[in-house]
Amino acid sequence: MTPEDFLRRAIELAAEARRNGNPPFGSLLVGPDGDVLAEAQNSTITDGNISFHPELKLAVWAAQSLGAETAAGTTMYTSCEPCGMCGGALARSGLGRVVFALSGEQLDGLKPSGGFPAVPQEGPALYDEARVPVEGYYT
Ligand SMILES: [Zn+2]
Repeated sequence: MTPEDFLRRAIELAAEARRNGNPPFGSLLVGPDGDVLAEAQNSTITDGNISFHPELKLAVWAAQSLGAETAAGTTMYTSCEPCGMCGGALARSGLGRVVFALSGEQLDGLKPSGGFPAVPQEGPALYDEARVPVEGYYT
């Protein structure tokens, strides 16, 4: 299978997610030898979980199921460029690379309004207290 074939499968999974009542996104994880290791669809609506993006599901699955060396040799093919939430999970997952079809910008052009408003954040605060459980953990 070519990279375009894997992307077409991700697009099929996106269409299937939509038919199942969810936002139209799908992804698959391909191992170093070209085998499809896992597939996922968005199921945020039917599972009632805002984190159930296919890229995040596969990143969690890989971190739980694959050794670091195997994970590093994988490629995720996904119907759309990963969002910020999934990008953070992918950075922690150790996967080798991501290949996407639609860019985030192209997706925004297909939607009436793009993105979610950022939640205001305040901080830092209570440094002397907050640092106590962290000090020494990463050494
Ligand atoms: Zn996402």
